[in-house]
Amino acid sequence: MRYLKEGIITKLYTCVEQETCIACGNCGANAPKIFDYDEEGLAFSLLDDNKGQKAVPKKYIDDCLDAYDSCPTGSIQIAHIPFVK
Ligand code: SF4
Repeated sequence: MRYLKEGIITKLYTCVEQETCIACGNCGANAPKIFDYDEEGLAFSLLDDNKGQKAVPKKYIDDCLDAYDSCPTGSIQIAHIPFVK
């Protein structure tokens, strides 16, 4: 779903569905300013403790989309509007 990268994106929100994360490390490798891992190795968003309510800084949007594409389990969630949790 690279269409987000091609143009009109101005806001991006992200969080990780930890129930399906397999702790592979791809997201942190692609977007180290956005994703980190908890003590079990499961990824989470550094922006707001995985709430998905703080926008990804524009300079990291491409990295975030690379992480999204690299996740083998589809655990990284992205949206144009904040997540509700
Ligand atoms: Fe988990 Fe996906 Fe990140 Fe791998 S890329 S650590 S499966 S969220």
